[in-house]
Amino acid sequence: MSNEPELIQRWKELTSELGEVKLLAVSKYAPDDQVQELIGAGETDFGESRPQSLRDRAEQWPECNWHMIGPLQKNKAKYIGRHAAMWHSCDDIETAAAVARYVEGRELPVLIQVNVSNNPAQRGVATDAVGELADALSRIDGLKLAGLMGMAPRDNNVRQAFQNLRCLRDNLFGGSFAELCMGMSNDYRIAVEEGATIVRLGSTLFGSR
Ligand SMILES: *Cc1c(COP(=O)(O)O)cnc(C)c1O
Repeated sequence: MSNEPELIQRWKELTSELGEVKLLAVSKYAPDDQVQELIGAGETDFGESRPQSLRDRAEQWPECNWHMIGPLQKNKAKYIGRHAAMWHSCDDIETAAAVARYVEGRELPVLIQVNVSNNPAQRGVATDAVGELADALSRIDGLKLAGLMGMAPRDNNVRQAFQNLRCLRDNLFGGSFAELCMGMSNDYRIAVEEGATIVRLGSTLFGSR
Protein backbone atom coordinates (compact mmCIF):
# COMPACT_ATOMS: atom_id res chain seq x y z
CA MET A 1 0.00 0.00 0.00
CA SER A 2 1.29 3.39 -0.94
CA ASN A 3 1.07 6.26 1.50
CA GLU A 4 0.64 8.75 -1.29
CA PRO A 5 -2.40 10.97 -1.00
CA GLU A 6 -5.29 9.86 -3.19
CA LEU A 7 -5.10 13.06 -5.22
CA ILE A 8 -1.53 12.34 -6.22
CA GLN A 9 -2.36 8.73 -7.07
CA ARG A 10 -5.22 9.85 -9.31
CA TRP A 11 -3.02 12.48 -10.94
CA LYS A 12 -0.31 9.91 -11.70
CA GLU A 13 -2.84 7.45 -13.13
CA LEU A 14 -4.41 10.13 -15.30
CA THR A 15 -1.12 11.52 -16.61
CA SER A 16 0.12 8.07 -17.52
CA GLU A 17 -3.20 7.18 -19.16
CA LEU A 18 -3.11 10.41 -21.17
CA GLY A 19 0.42 9.99 -22.47
CA GLU A 20 1.17 12.79 -24.93
CA VAL A 21 -2.18 14.47 -24.36
CA LYS A 22 -1.88 17.40 -22.00
CA LEU A 23 -3.79 17.27 -18.73
CA LEU A 24 -5.21 20.61 -17.70
CA ALA A 25 -5.99 20.38 -13.98
CA VAL A 26 -9.24 22.32 -13.61
CA SER A 27 -8.84 23.78 -10.15
CA LYS A 28 -11.87 26.09 -10.06
CA TYR A 29 -13.44 24.16 -7.16
CA ALA A 30 -10.21 22.93 -5.60
CA PRO A 31 -8.93 24.50 -2.38
CA ASP A 32 -5.43 25.95 -2.24
CA ASP A 33 -3.97 23.00 -0.35
CA GLN A 34 -4.96 20.60 -3.15
CA VAL A 35 -3.42 22.91 -5.73
CA GLN A 36 -0.26 23.08 -3.64
CA GLU A 37 -0.20 19.30 -3.34
CA LEU A 38 -0.39 18.85 -7.11
CA ILE A 39 2.28 21.45 -7.73
CA GLY A 40 4.48 19.54 -5.33
CA ALA A 41 3.92 16.40 -7.41
CA GLY A 42 4.91 18.22 -10.60
CA GLU A 43 1.71 19.57 -12.18
CA THR A 44 2.28 22.88 -13.95
CA ASP A 45 -0.96 23.65 -15.82
CA PHE A 46 -4.21 24.65 -14.15
CA GLY A 47 -7.57 25.81 -15.49
CA GLU A 48 -9.67 28.47 -13.79
CA SER A 49 -13.07 29.74 -14.88
CA ARG A 50 -13.23 33.00 -12.92
CA PRO A 51 -10.89 35.84 -13.90
CA GLN A 52 -10.15 37.04 -10.36
CA SER A 53 -9.40 33.54 -9.14
CA LEU A 54 -7.02 33.10 -12.04
CA ARG A 55 -5.30 36.37 -11.18
CA ASP A 56 -5.03 35.47 -7.49
CA ARG A 57 -3.60 32.03 -8.14
CA ALA A 58 -1.25 33.24 -10.86
CA GLU A 59 0.15 35.70 -8.33
CA GLN A 60 0.39 33.01 -5.66
CA TRP A 61 1.99 30.42 -7.97
CA PRO A 62 3.75 32.30 -10.78
CA GLU A 63 5.79 29.19 -11.60
CA CYS A 64 2.64 27.53 -13.02
CA ASN A 65 0.61 28.16 -16.16
CA TRP A 66 -2.90 29.45 -15.47
CA HIS A 67 -5.41 28.78 -18.23
CA MET A 68 -8.65 30.72 -18.58
CA ILE A 69 -11.50 28.35 -19.45
CA GLY A 70 -14.62 30.27 -18.39
CA PRO A 71 -16.82 33.05 -19.76
CA LEU A 72 -15.19 36.47 -19.76
CA GLN A 73 -16.66 39.95 -19.60
CA LYS A 74 -14.79 42.87 -21.07
CA ASN A 75 -14.37 44.60 -17.73
CA LYS A 76 -12.35 41.60 -16.47
CA ALA A 77 -10.15 41.46 -19.57
CA LYS A 78 -7.10 42.83 -17.76
CA TYR A 79 -6.81 39.78 -15.50
CA ILE A 80 -6.55 37.53 -18.51
CA GLY A 81 -4.29 39.76 -20.60
CA ARG A 82 -1.89 40.06 -17.70
CA HIS A 83 -2.00 36.65 -16.05
CA ALA A 84 -3.31 33.87 -18.31
CA ALA A 85 -0.89 31.46 -19.96
CA MET A 86 -3.60 30.52 -22.46
CA TRP A 87 -7.14 31.74 -23.06
CA HIS A 88 -9.38 28.81 -24.06
CA SER A 89 -12.77 30.47 -24.11
CA CYS A 90 -12.48 33.26 -26.67
CA ASP A 91 -15.76 33.67 -28.53
CA ASP A 92 -16.03 37.32 -29.44
CA ILE A 93 -13.74 39.83 -31.06
CA GLU A 94 -14.47 42.81 -28.84
CA THR A 95 -13.51 40.94 -25.69
CA ALA A 96 -10.42 39.68 -27.51
CA ALA A 97 -9.39 43.23 -28.38
CA ALA A 98 -9.91 44.24 -24.75
CA VAL A 99 -7.73 41.37 -23.52
CA ALA A 100 -5.00 42.21 -26.04
CA ARG A 101 -4.66 45.71 -24.61
CA TYR A 102 -3.28 44.20 -21.39
CA VAL A 103 -0.86 41.74 -22.95
CA GLU A 104 2.64 43.10 -22.59
CA GLY A 105 5.92 41.79 -23.93
CA ARG A 106 4.50 38.47 -25.12
CA GLU A 107 1.83 36.86 -27.27
CA LEU A 108 -1.09 35.26 -25.45
CA PRO A 109 -2.11 31.94 -27.04
CA VAL A 110 -5.86 31.91 -27.68
CA LEU A 111 -8.28 29.12 -28.49
CA ILE A 112 -11.62 29.84 -30.10
CA GLN A 113 -14.44 28.23 -28.14
CA VAL A 114 -16.75 26.58 -30.62
CA ASN A 115 -20.38 25.73 -29.98
CA VAL A 116 -19.79 22.38 -31.64
CA SER A 117 -23.35 21.12 -31.53
CA ASN A 118 -24.81 24.57 -32.29
CA ASN A 119 -26.78 24.30 -29.08
CA PRO A 120 -28.22 27.67 -28.00
CA ALA A 121 -27.78 26.65 -24.35
CA GLN A 122 -24.00 26.35 -24.78
CA ARG A 123 -21.35 29.00 -25.14
CA GLY A 124 -19.03 29.45 -28.07
CA VAL A 125 -19.02 30.57 -31.68
CA ALA A 126 -21.29 28.83 -34.19
CA THR A 127 -19.33 26.42 -36.36
CA ASP A 128 -19.94 28.50 -39.49
CA ALA A 129 -18.59 31.66 -37.82
CA VAL A 130 -15.28 30.25 -36.64
CA GLY A 131 -13.35 31.21 -39.80
CA GLU A 132 -14.45 34.80 -39.54
CA LEU A 133 -13.40 35.10 -35.89
CA ALA A 134 -10.08 33.42 -36.69
CA ASP A 135 -9.37 36.02 -39.40
CA ALA A 136 -10.26 38.88 -37.09
CA LEU A 137 -8.08 37.49 -34.29
CA SER A 138 -5.09 37.21 -36.59
CA ARG A 139 -5.21 40.99 -37.01
CA ILE A 140 -4.93 41.70 -33.27
CA ASP A 141 -1.43 42.26 -31.92
CA GLY A 142 -0.62 40.45 -28.70
CA LEU A 143 -2.84 37.44 -29.38
CA LYS A 144 -1.83 34.27 -31.15
CA LEU A 145 -4.55 31.94 -32.39
CA ALA A 146 -3.42 28.50 -31.22
CA GLY A 147 -6.40 26.22 -31.84
CA LEU A 148 -9.97 25.36 -30.91
CA MET A 149 -11.81 24.42 -27.72
CA GLY A 150 -15.21 22.83 -27.37
CA MET A 151 -17.60 21.03 -25.07
CA ALA A 152 -19.63 18.01 -26.02
CA PRO A 153 -23.40 18.00 -25.61
CA ARG A 154 -24.77 15.93 -22.74
CA ASP A 155 -26.56 13.44 -24.95
CA ASN A 156 -25.26 10.59 -27.05
CA ASN A 157 -23.76 12.75 -29.81
CA VAL A 158 -20.55 13.24 -27.86
CA ARG A 159 -18.27 11.43 -30.29
CA GLN A 160 -19.85 13.15 -33.28
CA ALA A 161 -19.32 16.55 -31.66
CA PHE A 162 -15.65 15.80 -31.02
CA GLN A 163 -15.23 14.55 -34.59
CA ASN A 164 -16.81 17.75 -35.92
CA LEU A 165 -14.50 19.90 -33.82
CA ARG A 166 -11.48 17.99 -35.02
CA CYS A 167 -12.54 18.42 -38.67
CA LEU A 168 -12.95 22.11 -38.12
CA ARG A 169 -9.49 22.33 -36.56
CA ASP A 170 -7.93 20.38 -39.44
CA ASN A 171 -9.64 22.55 -42.06
CA LEU A 172 -8.91 25.84 -40.38
CA PHE A 173 -5.26 25.19 -39.58
CA GLY A 174 -4.42 23.05 -42.59
CA GLY A 175 -3.16 20.08 -40.65
CA SER A 176 -3.01 18.96 -37.09
CA PHE A 177 -0.47 21.10 -35.31
CA ALA A 178 -2.95 23.41 -33.65
CA GLU A 179 -4.40 22.65 -30.25
CA LEU A 180 -7.66 20.74 -29.94
CA CYS A 181 -8.88 21.24 -26.39
CA MET A 182 -11.84 18.95 -25.72
CA GLY A 183 -12.93 16.42 -23.12
CA MET A 184 -13.88 16.77 -19.47
CA SER A 185 -14.19 14.25 -16.65
CA ASN A 186 -17.17 12.44 -18.16
CA ASP A 187 -16.02 12.24 -21.75
CA TYR A 188 -12.25 12.70 -21.90
CA ARG A 189 -11.57 9.14 -23.09
CA ILE A 190 -13.73 9.69 -26.16
CA ALA A 191 -12.06 13.06 -26.72
CA VAL A 192 -8.62 11.48 -26.63
CA GLU A 193 -9.71 8.82 -29.13
CA GLU A 194 -10.91 11.62 -31.40
CA GLY A 195 -7.64 13.54 -31.29
CA ALA A 196 -7.73 15.92 -28.33
CA THR A 197 -4.37 17.56 -27.55
CA ILE A 198 -5.55 18.97 -24.20
CA VAL A 199 -8.24 17.61 -21.85
CA ARG A 200 -9.73 19.67 -19.02
CA LEU A 201 -10.25 17.56 -15.91
CA GLY A 202 -11.83 18.79 -12.70
CA SER A 203 -13.95 16.34 -10.71
CA THR A 204 -12.25 13.13 -11.80
CA LEU A 205 -8.96 14.53 -10.55
CA PHE A 206 -9.89 16.58 -7.48
CA GLY A 207 -13.03 14.62 -6.54
CA SER A 208 -16.59 15.89 -6.75
CA ARG A 209 -17.43 19.04 -4.94
C1 LIG B 1 -15.44 22.99 -14.83
C2 LIG B 1 -14.98 22.86 -16.21
C3 LIG B 1 -14.28 21.71 -16.63
C4 LIG B 1 -14.03 20.52 -15.74
O1 LIG B 1 -15.19 19.81 -15.56
P1 LIG B 1 -15.21 18.34 -14.90
O2 LIG B 1 -16.42 17.71 -15.45
O3 LIG B 1 -15.26 18.57 -13.43
O4 LIG B 1 -13.97 17.66 -15.34
C5 LIG B 1 -13.83 21.68 -17.93
N1 LIG B 1 -14.05 22.70 -18.79
C6 LIG B 1 -14.71 23.82 -18.43
C7 LIG B 1 -14.90 24.89 -19.42
C8 LIG B 1 -15.20 23.93 -17.13
O5 LIG B 1 -15.85 25.04 -16.77
